[in-house]
Amino acid sequence: MNAIIITIGNEILIGQTVDTNSAWIAQELNLIGIEVSKIISILDEKEEISRALDEAISSVDFVIITGGLGPTNDDITKKALADYFGVKLVQDDQVLEHIDKLVTKRKAEMNERNIKQAEIPENCTVLKNNLGTAPGMLFKHKNATIVSLPGVPFEMRELMNTQVIPLMKQTTSDLQIIHKNILTQGLPESKLAEVLEPWENNLPSCISLAYLPSPGLIKLRLTAKGSNKSLLEEAINSSLDKLKKVIPELICGYNSETLEELIGTLLKEQGKTLSTAESCTGGNIASLITSIAGSSAYYQGSVVAYSNEIKENVLKVKGCSLNEYGAVSKQVVEEMAIGVKKLYKTDLAIATSGIAGPTGGTFEKPIGTTWIAIADSNGVYAEKYIFGDQRERNIKRASLTALNMLQKRLLATNL
Ligand code: ATP
Ligand code: MG
Repeated sequence: MNAIIITIGNEILIGQTVDTNSAWIAQELNLIGIEVSKIISILDEKEEISRALDEAISSVDFVIITGGLGPTNDDITKKALADYFGVKLVQDDQVLEHIDKLVTKRKAEMNERNIKQAEIPENCTVLKNNLGTAPGMLFKHKNATIVSLPGVPFEMRELMNTQVIPLMKQTTSDLQIIHKNILTQGLPESKLAEVLEPWENNLPSCISLAYLPSPGLIKLRLTAKGSNKSLLEEAINSSLDKLKKVIPELICGYNSETLEELIGTLLKEQGKTLSTAESCTGGNIASLITSIAGSSAYYQGSVVAYSNEIKENVLKVKGCSLNEYGAVSKQVVEEMAIGVKKLYKTDLAIATSGIAGPTGGTFEKPIGTTWIAIADSNGVYAEKYIFGDQRERNIKRASLTALNMLQKRLLATNL
């Protein structure tokens, strides 16, 4: 089974909207064993839509279209689909009722444009859009199933999750798919691929491997496809056992997606609490940690100690350390970590102090110089890094490096 994804919208082609829809859809389809053979982005133009449909319908089983279903004049997907199939647009009473309810709930008046949204090509099956006014639509044509969804990402995802994917799964029901994610750290992707090549070459033919790098982590995804589930499970487990022998020191987790999630899992497992004292990262580490649902179980809070006064008055960094070594130093960052750990009474603490740039560097401390400290029940230790000269990148890299240091600490010592 294969699919083509077509995203429609002038705003995508002028670079104003980044087409995240197709990436998300492609990932989801891959997870259920449907191969995406092409992703196309086209203008809101009838001829373009018709040309893309011609190509897609003649070559794949599923065509997923997003965008151009809204009430504005530039949204022409629905009319283009009706013309393509040679059918009329007709009003659908249930869709009209749904739009009416949504509009009333939003305390607005139904207008002509809303009523027009209830018109659908007469050959389609409606996919009810619980989150918006533009209905999703499903067509069968020749041997293909064509689905047209709104461009708004959260509406599109809800329709995919609740209606389109279950339907697609039915058509691929005799195919079993098992995934296993392995998180690795310590080697860049190209080097890791080199180390894993012999193992990868010996994977059974039912298993495929994907490298999914994200900041600070590389996720390896093993996918086994076939008809016998227990055989697939056996194949995955034995491949995993072999992998553990090749890179035992690089594997840092199995089920998380990001470093902050992994840290959350480890802290919860170990029943430990965390606080942060951030200078150059300005709260970015706190933001990453609290992006994880349930982080209140282990995260106490942060002091964004940007000025020396706050470092001294709130975190109790010694004035003489600041004077003698400067804010960006081993002494100060260690005192910051100890200070916040004590202040918030946590088991662990992270502190950062660095020169994010683009100004403020010196010969001794060039832009990008960053000290990161971790304090725990065994004491405190700090490491110095020299990142680049771009402020935004430095803040990101310092934050991820700090999380990485903490993660290693948590894995190494069950304190
Ligand atoms: P609406 O009812 O909002 O008009 P629509 O189906 O007409 O929905 P579009 O007008 O194409 O969809 O897009 C609506 C919004 O959804 C856009 O402003 C854009 O932010 C977002 N969007 C559209 N297409 C994509 C895409 N491929 N990837 C990510 N976001 C998208
Ligand atoms: Mg629109």
